[in-house]
Amino acid sequence: MEFGQELKKKLSYAAKAVSRGASRLTAEAGQRINTAVASKRVDDAMKKLGRLRYDELTHGADDASPAENAVIAEIEALISDLEKLKNRGADDSASRVCRRCRFCGAVISDDAIYCSKCGGKQE
Ligand SMILES: [Zn+2]
Repeated sequence: MEFGQELKKKLSYAAKAVSRGASRLTAEAGQRINTAVASKRVDDAMKKLGRLRYDELTHGADDASPAENAVIAEIEALISDLEKLKNRGADDSASRVCRRCRFCGAVISDDAIYCSKCGGKQE
C-alpha cells in the first residue's frame, strides 16, 4: 500500500478510536453529574425537613406534620432514585471487572459479605 493511503487509514482508525473514547467519557461524566445532582437533591430535601422539624419543635408539636410527611416521602423517592443511578453506574463501568457494593458502589472483594466502606450486607 502506498504510504499516503496507509497514513490516511491509520488516521481514520485513530479518529474513530478517539470518538469512541470521547462518547464513553461523556456517558461516565453524565453518570457522575446525575449522581451528584441526585445527592444534592437528597441533601436539600433533608435540610427542608430539618427546617420543618425545627419549626414544629419550636411550636411544641411532637408528631410529623403533613408537610413533614410529604418531605419524608420526597426524600425516600430521591434516595431510591439515587440508588438506581449508583447501581446503573456500577453496572455500566467496573462491575464487569470487579465486584461492587450494592449500596455505595465501593469496590469490594469477591467473597465479601459486608462492604468495607459502608458496612452494607451484600447478597
Ligand atoms: Zn458499601
